Amino acid sequence: MKSQIIVLGGGISGLSLAWKLSSNGFQVTVLEKAKIVGGLARTERENGYCMDVGPHSFFSEDAEIRDTVINLFNNSLHPEPRRVKFYYQGKYLDYPLTAFSVLFQMGIISGMRAGFSFLNSKLFFRNNYKSNNHEQSVEDWAIGSFGKHLYQTFFKPYTEQFWKISCKELSARSIPAHTRTSFLNTLRLLVQKRLAKRGSSLVEREMLPTYYPDTGYGEIPERVADAAVKAGTKILKECNVIEVEELPDSTVVVRYEKNGEVKEMTGTHIVSTIPLNNFVKMLKPPPPYDVLVSAEKLDYRSFIALGMVTEKQNILNCSYMYVLNRPYNRISEMNRFSPKTSPKGENIILLEIPCLMNSAAWNATKEELFEMCIGSLSKDGVLLPGDVKRLLIIKEPYAYPVYRIDYAAHLKKLSNYINERKMLSTLGRLGEFMYMDIDKCMKRAFTLADKLSSTL
Ligand SMILES: Cc1cc2nc3c(=O)[nH]c(=O)nc-3n(C[C@H](O)[C@H](O)[C@H](O)COP(=O)(O)OP(=O)(O)OC[C@H]3O[C@@H](n4cnc5c(N)ncnc54)[C@H](O)[C@@H]3O)c2cc1C
Repeated sequence: MKSQIIVLGGGISGLSLAWKLSSNGFQVTVLEKAKIVGGLARTERENGYCMDVGPHSFFSEDAEIRDTVINLFNNSLHPEPRRVKFYYQGKYLDYPLTAFSVLFQMGIISGMRAGFSFLNSKLFFRNNYKSNNHEQSVEDWAIGSFGKHLYQTFFKPYTEQFWKISCKELSARSIPAHTRTSFLNTLRLLVQKRLAKRGSSLVEREMLPTYYPDTGYGEIPERVADAAVKAGTKILKECNVIEVEELPDSTVVVRYEKNGEVKEMTGTHIVSTIPLNNFVKMLKPPPPYDVLVSAEKLDYRSFIALGMVTEKQNILNCSYMYVLNRPYNRISEMNRFSPKTSPKGENIILLEIPCLMNSAAWNATKEELFEMCIGSLSKDGVLLPGDVKRLLIIKEPYAYPVYRIDYAAHLKKLSNYINERKMLSTLGRLGEFMYMDIDKCMKRAFTLADKLSSTL
């Protein structure tokens, strides 16, 4: 039988893989649960408003991936500098936190306490990771890199507000590698910058130029989908995959629900980009008990994007800012990404609310969430209740893989189980349980496509 590849999930990973495999001559079908493609990188459009799953921007240090995306837009995407801040006790700090912010923006007392505490931690704190080779927690990393004072006043409240678990239980790998700097490192770069009198970058990836399409970030996966279809991929939407059965004749049957009916499709290879633990639980014959136990141990943080439509303009002095001790962790002003994300004269202030699935926030209506957030927004001078003329909402159950301190062993068990099965592969942020941006998703998809093209 000629290779028939079925891709589960039409986010950027599944679409990029399908594009490349179809271009290499394979028959590829993508099964996507939603009405539109793009997954976490999609844009929902209604009445002239474009809502991302939290504002995204495209950036990459990988020239091949950057050029691939830019070429999809016939060079009509334009680079913008990144304008990100951390709003802390009424002050706009650098993000990621820099020595300049600590020493000069947080206030002299706080700066001195942070400096002494950092020296103290360098002299006396035994970093657990280094001392006993265990997985390093966020607490270990933050105290070792920035000292106890900044850990307690800054990293701990922010991290726990976001992840909803203790910093002791969270692996340091939850901090994206490109922001995982240290006070000493930022101090060294600050001095170098002063000496060189030039804008040397503190954290290279955070300083890369960013790109944002006119009518929402979702244009990127939409264009990848168009390219894939042109190359021969079939994309079937509103297909909710429920079972994946491996048969002895080296084929796999995928069962999915569409319009209330269960349908099936047979392939010779399946690539799953849907949440890894859900995929493992769909397999028939079922995996051994210990694999299923590990699947239960991996969880995801859910996410709500609440859009507040207003006629106010130029509200933030950056594109987005992180905030502490608020029901939301980030605020963005969408007109700073593209004025075409809402009708003329309007603007969207977008709040990101990380939450646990089935928590009070998750179950709240957009009106209830508005009531929950508007007090802080007013206090911080962002929006008053009367400024908001309409509410928009997106709820995403699987947004962030949670790297608990013991997650690596469970992930390895699931990955080993999948890798032993020649007809199955997993890919992507949820599929591989790997915290990554879309450039990395695309890169991994193209690499897997090359591997499958040479082996199938
Ligand atoms: C709030 C937020 C902000 C972000 N900001 C940025 C940014 O600025 N820049 C950046 O590059 N990246 C950003 N990212 C990361 C980026 O969105 C993801 O890395 C990327 O979109 C993941 O793509 P994926 O295809 O791997 O997964 P997904 O996009 O999750 O795709 C998986 C797909 O599978 C589908 N699916 C699930 N279950 C089933 C089923 N049973 N049957 C069929 N289909 C199913 C889903 O509907 C989805 O379409 C951000 C992520 C979040 C959450």
